[in-house]
Amino acid sequence: MARIAVIGAGTGAMAAAARLAVAGEKVTVYERSASYGGSVGRHEHEGFVFDTGPGLLHLPAVQRDLFVKTGKESLEQCVTLTQVDPASRHLFADGTAVSLPNASRAGVSAALDGALGAGSGARWSDFMDRARDAWDRSRRPLLEEPLRADHQVLGRDPYPAVRQRRLLRAARQAATVAEIGTWELADPRLAALLDGYALAHGLDPRTAPASAALLPYMEQTFGSWYVLGGMRELARAVYERCVARRVEFVFGAEVVRVIEKDGRAAGVELAGGEVAEADRVVLGVRPRPGLVPGQQVWGPGDVPVRAGSDAGAAGRFTVLLSLRGAREADAVHRTVVHSGDGAAEWEAVFGGRAADRVADRVAGHPTVTVLRPDDPATRPDAEHEAVTLTATVAPQGPVDWRDAGVRQRFADVLVERAGAAVPGLRERILHTEIRTPAETEAETGAEGGAVPPPALAGAGGAYLHPGNLTRLPGLYLAGGWAHPGGGLAHAGMSGTLVAGLVVEGDGFSGSR
Ligand SMILES: Cc1cc2nc3c(=O)[nH]c(=O)nc-3n(C[C@H](O)[C@H](O)[C@H](O)COP(=O)(O)OP(=O)(O)OC[C@H]3O[C@@H](n4cnc5c(N)ncnc54)[C@H](O)[C@@H]3O)c2cc1C
Repeated sequence: MARIAVIGAGTGAMAAAARLAVAGEKVTVYERSASYGGSVGRHEHEGFVFDTGPGLLHLPAVQRDLFVKTGKESLEQCVTLTQVDPASRHLFADGTAVSLPNASRAGVSAALDGALGAGSGARWSDFMDRARDAWDRSRRPLLEEPLRADHQVLGRDPYPAVRQRRLLRAARQAATVAEIGTWELADPRLAALLDGYALAHGLDPRTAPASAALLPYMEQTFGSWYVLGGMRELARAVYERCVARRVEFVFGAEVVRVIEKDGRAAGVELAGGEVAEADRVVLGVRPRPGLVPGQQVWGPGDVPVRAGSDAGAAGRFTVLLSLRGAREADAVHRTVVHSGDGAAEWEAVFGGRAADRVADRVAGHPTVTVLRPDDPATRPDAEHEAVTLTATVAPQGPVDWRDAGVRQRFADVLVERAGAAVPGLRERILHTEIRTPAETEAETGAEGGAVPPPALAGAGGAYLHPGNLTRLPGLYLAGGWAHPGGGLAHAGMSGTLVAGLVVEGDGFSGSR
């Protein structure tokens, strides 16, 4: 029985912990805060309950597998999962609105035809076929296997972009999300739909490789799910599974350094100076300078870690609204209010040529996601409603999100824009809670409060994350900042891969 020290109680690290405990290892999780779950937090105010991190679950198969492999009770026996239908409603800048059904290719196509005009559905559907090809080509090396030593194969984009012939000029093929929108979808609303998926995952449509087509493909194929009581219930269930498997949790324990002995990871040093020896260490947080000896984080072949540094450095700005008045019976769970000026929004969020002043880094017309769960557990009674507004924003740094004026002004913009999705929104507000990248930084330890995007193939490997194996024997990486990247499903997979590598050895070639 090996002693394993896990740093951080995020969902990726906890997935690794539960699996390692089942394999017979003695696992201790050191978490600097007072609770588990990391980004999957909860805010409560006078009977209103809000998720502070993800509001929906995609690719639930990852969590289902975790529960099957670590105990007798299935995921569905531990939490109540419901499909969100329609999966999303979209309000475009030209006033067009469309509701997309959950996990129904034919339904999405028909809805787009009805709202955007005949032929729109077929164009989106053809795009989804190409996205499925990209999924089939990259799923295993990108999601289900540890990052291979020859990870360069993932540098090639698996998305089969349409070759566009042009009179007297060289043919062109979409290499980015924005180019797919312009050249293949050829409708500003379909383009906004696709851009919205990239943006919601913290990716810049101008530069994100075409393989980001996987993001709408996964969602529209495997569905959008809500956990009754809020997503925090999922974190609770994973934590309880860990405890049932005898994983030990030490809260209020900040790890300041991974200990190295004889060229191996040999334990962790806590903020108080205490040292906990271990045979292996799993780092489930974004590595900060000094945390790992000699910064020996990156594995053989060294992935250029842009996604872990600047390409994916966007954060989230969230407004939690306690509302008087009942939720309408036909209210949609998720509405996306699209920006009328995508280019200006991307410039603000990700920076670029013009965005050098602070004011430029706060979008004037942000894309706003409005979440209105139909869940009695989130409100004091049926005469009230809990609503969450989210926008992808620049991290803490380029914008000082601690500035009360900056926070309030941007919250007002979100409320204004969300009014299109919630009738009488402003007049119904009883209480407002604002959360920014500054809060995310404090809660997850990620510099700038950045939220890690999922790893993507293409762009020469620039959107890959560091592999789960590191240069320091005995040190493994899990969580959203490691392969295969951020988000509940991807970080959950990192836990699967780390457990496989520890139990089966460095030759472990992935989950089957
Ligand atoms: C505001 C927000 C919105 C999001 N929205 C979505 C979404 O819509 N869809 C989606 O799929 N994903 C979303 N995510 C991302 C998703 O929540 C995470 O990728 C996922 O939960 C995996 O997190 P993790 O395992 O990397 O750990 P994290 O959630 O990053 O947690 C890390 C944990 O480690 C602890 N820690 C940090 N440093 C130390 C240290 N030195 N010592 C001890 N403990 C330490 C922290 O306190 C924290 O508990 C969102 C995240 C945020 C913050």
